[in-house]
Amino acid sequence: MGNMMSSIRNSGQIKEIKEILNAELGYFGSPNTKHDSVECSICESIANFLFTKNGFALYRCSDCEFLFAPINTPNNSISDFFENSKAIDLYTSKVIENEAARKSAIFRPLAKRIIATHPEAKKILEIGCGAGLLLDELRLAGLGTIDIQGVEVNRFAAERSIEKGHNIFPGAIDDFKGENFDVVVFWAFLDHIPDPLALFRRINGLLGNGGLLIFGNANYAGFEASIMGTESHIYSVPERLSFFTPRTLEILCHEAGFNNTSIEGSGNLDLEIVKDWWENNPEIPKNDFLYSVMNNHEIAQNFTLFLQKTLLTSHLTVNTWK
Ligand SMILES: [Zn+2]
Repeated sequence: MGNMMSSIRNSGQIKEIKEILNAELGYFGSPNTKHDSVECSICESIANFLFTKNGFALYRCSDCEFLFAPINTPNNSISDFFENSKAIDLYTSKVIENEAARKSAIFRPLAKRIIATHPEAKKILEIGCGAGLLLDELRLAGLGTIDIQGVEVNRFAAERSIEKGHNIFPGAIDDFKGENFDVVVFWAFLDHIPDPLALFRRINGLLGNGGLLIFGNANYAGFEASIMGTESHIYSVPERLSFFTPRTLEILCHEAGFNNTSIEGSGNLDLEIVKDWWENNPEIPKNDFLYSVMNNHEIAQNFTLFLQKTLLTSHLTVNTWK
């Protein structure tokens, strides 16, 4: 498991992608002006300034815990970034190189989970389908009886999915026309979206009655971001603009018209990520207790189970119904 995970998450590749990304940040305009507080775009409560990352001020809602960097960039400039980014092209190429490992660790279990959660589903849409890894697994799991569609704004990734014979809309979700889906799924996508409530209302409109939205996203209240603070890779502002806790996600689903939301702590890499960070940055003081937990295999496994049960993993999976 350890070797497989490190082939998925190679720190040298991450560094190379970050360097390209840093040269592309012009798409996001200049850093925002800092205020004491702004209005939360999910629940309209007051959001207070929390910290600045890469020049962009982040605010946390005092009610729903939504943490976000408001930007002054027009929405289509962000679409332009995702459509044309060389960093995303390189990331997609790396994903394809490690496709088998990613499929068995993430997308095969996810496809099985989707089919098991909504066994009657006949029409499924993935938003941000990348190179089509989940679509491949859904096609296998659905045995050809399910209408499977994808939306992908990045040109290079959309072409890879189309080459595999998938039914892809190569553009932004705002321009996609469709209705009566039984399931909409997205993975590691929401934190790039400046207005998550507008997106969730739009997804609600794509689903038929009784439809399922299933998604995975980072949890900034999880172990990794709590220990690493603003150094956590989840805070790659402005490429990522929106950050969530279980409470935020529950309120977001409710505000957009979804019901029966259930959230799982699905991550299992928190300890490995923090351990690597401490070992690669010896100047950062380690917490000796946590470091000893990480170095005892059995205790580390139990600690990971504890993080999952208490929704303190850095990754969450959410089911919510229309
Ligand atoms: Zn709020």
